[in-house]
Amino acid sequence: MQHLYKNLSIWLIVALAVLLLFNFLNQNTPDYHTVSYNAFLEKVNGGFVSEINLTDNVATWKGSDGTTYRSVIPPQMPILDKLVQNNIATYVEKKKEPSWLMKTILQWIPFLALIMVWLIYMRRNNNAGGGGPRAMAFGKSRAKLIDPEQSKITLDDVAGIEEAKDEITEIIDFLKNPEVFAEAGARIPTGVLLYGEPGTGKTLLAKAIAGEAGVPFFSISGSHFVEMYVGVGASRVRDLFAEGKKKAPCIIFIDEIDAVGRHRSAGGPGGGNDEREQTLNQLLVEMDGFEENDHVIVIAATNRQDILDPALLRPGRFDRQVMVPLPDVGGREKILQVHAKKTKIDATVNWHTIAKGTPGFSGAQLENMVNEAALLMARLKKPAITMDILEAAKDKVLMGAERRSLIITEQEKRITACHEAGHALVAWMLPGTDPVHKVTIIPRGKALGVTMQLPEEERNSQDKTYLTNMLCVLLGGRVAETVVFQEITTGAANDIERVSDIARRMVCEWGMSSTVGPLAFKAGDPLSGQPGQIMSDETALMIDKEVRALVDSAQNTATTILTQHRQLLDELTTALMEKETISRDEISHLVQQHQH
Ligand code: ADP
Ligand code: ZN
Repeated sequence: MQHLYKNLSIWLIVALAVLLLFNFLNQNTPDYHTVSYNAFLEKVNGGFVSEINLTDNVATWKGSDGTTYRSVIPPQMPILDKLVQNNIATYVEKKKEPSWLMKTILQWIPFLALIMVWLIYMRRNNNAGGGGPRAMAFGKSRAKLIDPEQSKITLDDVAGIEEAKDEITEIIDFLKNPEVFAEAGARIPTGVLLYGEPGTGKTLLAKAIAGEAGVPFFSISGSHFVEMYVGVGASRVRDLFAEGKKKAPCIIFIDEIDAVGRHRSAGGPGGGNDEREQTLNQLLVEMDGFEENDHVIVIAATNRQDILDPALLRPGRFDRQVMVPLPDVGGREKILQVHAKKTKIDATVNWHTIAKGTPGFSGAQLENMVNEAALLMARLKKPAITMDILEAAKDKVLMGAERRSLIITEQEKRITACHEAGHALVAWMLPGTDPVHKVTIIPRGKALGVTMQLPEEERNSQDKTYLTNMLCVLLGGRVAETVVFQEITTGAANDIERVSDIARRMVCEWGMSSTVGPLAFKAGDPLSGQPGQIMSDETALMIDKEVRALVDSAQNTATTILTQHRQLLDELTTALMEKETISRDEISHLVQQHQH
């Protein structure tokens, strides 16, 4: 196929070139002096014309001065008689018609041009995924291949997810010595599904398996299979597995498997998708077609394990599922240390403290944080990364880069300061909330200001009090604006969104409303195609009322706190206006001054 395309386009280019040349030659006739019809008649009558060549209604004639002229003869004016009368040598020719071949080619030009554009487009498209000349044809898999010699990633690079590591050691052993397992008659899984939040190290883990076992590693993203052309995905899958078998023992890694492996009955965005279904079917066929001695292990990763087609998880396919969780404090400390090896760290840095201050961070975020710190160290021309630098890097990862260039009016600044002071003060006054870590009115990312709270320790579940307090804190910003300025702004949009989400889930998912009771009314997930929960109109009404009651009560609490501590609120606002960022200690200091 590939050769055919190449030849075709070469022929097309040649054909076009010939055509152009033809046209060029045709047009490249010598220059004539064009003379009007009446002038021409005058010349004829005056005996100035010595020779004339008539082609249809164009007369090319030679004057007695030897120059060649050209004139157009109106068809209504027969001129032949006059020429004969005047004794002028007259040659009559028929206009040269382009040959039929020429005509046909001319007619086909637009069509050929279209084909050409299409070919070029297809080729581009195929090359886009990278990969050498191999990637020229449609059905090729476009998988990236990492040779065992290239890959230096081992299990030591993966930290903090010990259980997941334990689960995959068996697979490494198998890839190293397949014979031992074959003799023992053990059935080795063909597919391993790694699932967990983004950035928890699933790809890293898969690479480490290949690195430890010293086998080739094919990697492709599920979204690469799903193209707009029907059949391409399936043929890519076929090609990928064929290549894998050639290089066995090896690992085939499919990232974002949910792009292909979504539940088949689910419409998903864009409705039923034949192409995706075909691709998924091909994947299933290939996995079922593995022979005992193929020694190819397919590892897939997803953060949406819940929407996968159950067929994918059946025995013989991805029957081994390994959860890759977000790291806990100890895990985070180890991950930080792994990445700290790449840069210079000051002796005063206490990784345990940093790990404690980064709950909920994924491995990728921690890596990012160390990297940001290294960049900052270089920019500040410091010899090593200190605690301060790490703190700044954490803020950047958590809240986005500072946008100091954003122009903010004095009034906007005042409102933002008041808004953030509101959040902070409500959080400070309510027992059982996460302590305020830092408040800032330096714009970051989309936010004009941020109040950052950090839990004292890991939280794996939240109780109703905690959630109710969270509603109060979230509403604190908007309430402060109302209390101080009797005016509200759009700045609270994100707070309001989160409030609505939490309050609704408290009622509909966590059974925290006594009126509604412990019943789950999860909204349908449009991705997985689960229909929304069926409920009576009365229930829907009751849910709405309960959600509203939760939010109203939280708003009241926030209003009470902020009116009671109005002076403190103003002082916090002023401090924020002055310093732009205030820490937990500074807030604590302000509050204590007040109590005395
Ligand atoms: P996922 O595939 O789960 O989205 P990745 O494996 O792509 O996550 O992780 C991205 C990067 O984050 C890795 O290359 C690595 O630098 C870092 N990382 C993530 N998890 C870990 C971990 N457990 N140990 C060390 N580094 C990690
Ligand atoms: Zn806010």
